[in-house]
Amino acid sequence: MNDCIIKTENLGFTYADDEELATAEIPALAGVSINIGRGEYVAILGHNGSGKSTLAKLLNMILTPNVGKIYIDGRDITAEDFTEDDMFDIRRKIGMVFQNPDNQLVATVVEEDVAFGPENLGLPREEIRRRVNSSLSLVGMTEYARHAPHKLSGGQKQRVAIAGIIAMKPQVIIFDESTAMLDPQGRREVVDIMERLNREENITILNITHYMEEAARADRVIVINDGRIALDGTPREVFSNVEKLREMGLEAPQGNELILELKNAGIKIDGDSLTESECIETLYKFLS
Ligand code: ADP
Ligand code: MG
Repeated sequence: MNDCIIKTENLGFTYADDEELATAEIPALAGVSINIGRGEYVAILGHNGSGKSTLAKLLNMILTPNVGKIYIDGRDITAEDFTEDDMFDIRRKIGMVFQNPDNQLVATVVEEDVAFGPENLGLPREEIRRRVNSSLSLVGMTEYARHAPHKLSGGQKQRVAIAGIIAMKPQVIIFDESTAMLDPQGRREVVDIMERLNREENITILNITHYMEEAARADRVIVINDGRIALDGTPREVFSNVEKLREMGLEAPQGNELILELKNAGIKIDGDSLTESECIETLYKFLS
């Protein structure tokens, strides 16, 4: 892919406590080479401890790789001559939304919270206002502009946190299990916004998640297992590897699981089963 916003080559990272530097540790990530095109909507799946957050932190320069290369928007962020200013530039390009919305909100009024990032950029007042208004509108929180964040629902808080990121005009947003603490309603709200930011604003989305239905909504799914890329393809391609996913402690969406079980039982059924409606259709065709 020519127009890569993120490219890694043989990326590796090992956490080492100072005392234990001498001992050979297991790398959290190893040999990770990925290309993410500008405007892609990618889900990243993997069981607990597989290295997903480590990857996100490397891309956002919270961590520095021990081996390999990372190019963001064509720039080698592992280069020797990379300055602190360059680093802030990367952090502005790649926004991160974390798991717990309470840890991401800093102000006592929603609009002040969203203004926090742009204020730190030293932007003119009118520009800050414009960005706060358009960001709140994009996440559907305009009517809460003067509310106190701590009184909002989990999904609403997460939407305010997202607005704060959008106000920095990032090219990429990485959601690191950003829906894990939300109820189904809140999860839907946040995933709808991911989709909207991708489709309407052409923001590249990386959604790190362990919800299969969420991953199925992305255009591409990358599965990480024990620090390495295990699968990479469209949701349909990736979720057809039902048994491989199981071995990695993951489950394909229920429809795929069901159809596989039926096949394993010797029943000659075939057809798509990624979404609930496809699965129903396949069963219906088989039965009629
Ligand atoms: P995931 O986000 O997929 O759950 P992580 O990237 O957080 O996985 O972790 C990958 C591996 O690195 C795990 O084995 C984890 O225990 C280890 N790890 C993560 N953070 C640290 C840390 N700060 N210090 C030491 N080991 C860590
Ligand atoms: Mg994690």
